[in-house]
Amino acid sequence: MKAEIKPIADLNRVRLADAVPLKTPFALYLFHTNICNFRCTFCAHSLGREGMKREYGFVPEVMPMEVFERTIEQMKAFPRKFKFVSFTGQGEPLTNKRLPDLVMRLRKAEVADVTEVITNGALLTPKISRALIDAGLDRMKISIQGINTQAYKTITGVNVDFDKFVEQVRFLYERKGMMQLFVKVMNISLAPGEDEKFYKIFGEISDRMYIETCRPVYPGVDYGDRSEDVTMDRFGRQHDKRLVCPLCFFHLAIWPNGDVVPCDTILKPIVLGNVNDKQMTLKDMWNGRAHREFCAMQLRKERMISNPQCTRCIAPDDVCHPEDALDIDAEKIRTSYYQ
Ligand code: SF4
Repeated sequence: MKAEIKPIADLNRVRLADAVPLKTPFALYLFHTNICNFRCTFCAHSLGREGMKREYGFVPEVMPMEVFERTIEQMKAFPRKFKFVSFTGQGEPLTNKRLPDLVMRLRKAEVADVTEVITNGALLTPKISRALIDAGLDRMKISIQGINTQAYKTITGVNVDFDKFVEQVRFLYERKGMMQLFVKVMNISLAPGEDEKFYKIFGEISDRMYIETCRPVYPGVDYGDRSEDVTMDRFGRQHDKRLVCPLCFFHLAIWPNGDVVPCDTILKPIVLGNVNDKQMTLKDMWNGRAHREFCAMQLRKERMISNPQCTRCIAPDDVCHPEDALDIDAEKIRTSYYQ
């Protein structure tokens, strides 16, 4: 097998408590489209547009080019490059036909060490693969939804020819050059005994692969008996419940309308500003009062009582890594930097 079996997250991490407050966020999530071609049972999109609007105030949108360009321009003002920019965000990136062009523009701007796309891969035609390779994409993460056509139909609600899908991934893998190609699947998308088949099929056409544990990420979605224990992350690691959310200390996300949010969830716990606002840049928002007060609230361990969206969010217990945890150092960080 060519691939390593490891979480597809960035594993080269610093201890966040020693690094905050950051002058430049580590990660920027570009929600350039909120539209998805799948309706996966564990995803917010399973609720349909009306359900998503009701549950999250969600509006399906595509980011206008001016918003994208403004974002890149404003990223240049930070003192260093972002560690990575992720084309992702509550939608399927490949539904946006301009994606290769966006990747190329971002690479040319030299505002990030790594540019990545997180995708379900269903629209990864040879033409798109070639265009993304030519655009200089550094990393692609593909979410697999089963290992046969019937499983895809059950999980996504969509007809996907699985054999053809595998060939699409193979096409990219064989031509990708320096690009990293990671794949993952949720445990609920595999029937008992299918783990080895997943490793066998994708182990030859990816660099890294992992079976993640499905967590109850989206409020309003029925997760059955997976709803209780939040003290295990999606990578299967047990931990104490995290009272401070670390994400807002190193993330920024840009919604299609230009709204700037300090995490990549669908919940929008606070809007720090909008990139279309000529009075305030991304850097101003990152260093501004609203973000500082939000971080201070987190450090006081008040997220479960002070912010209605943080209250129903499990991201700190689901996607954060041991190096990100801030609970033990929270008071020291708050009194040193967030008074
Ligand atoms: S708790 Fe959730 S909603 Fe709140 S800042 Fe963290 S990731 Fe965002």
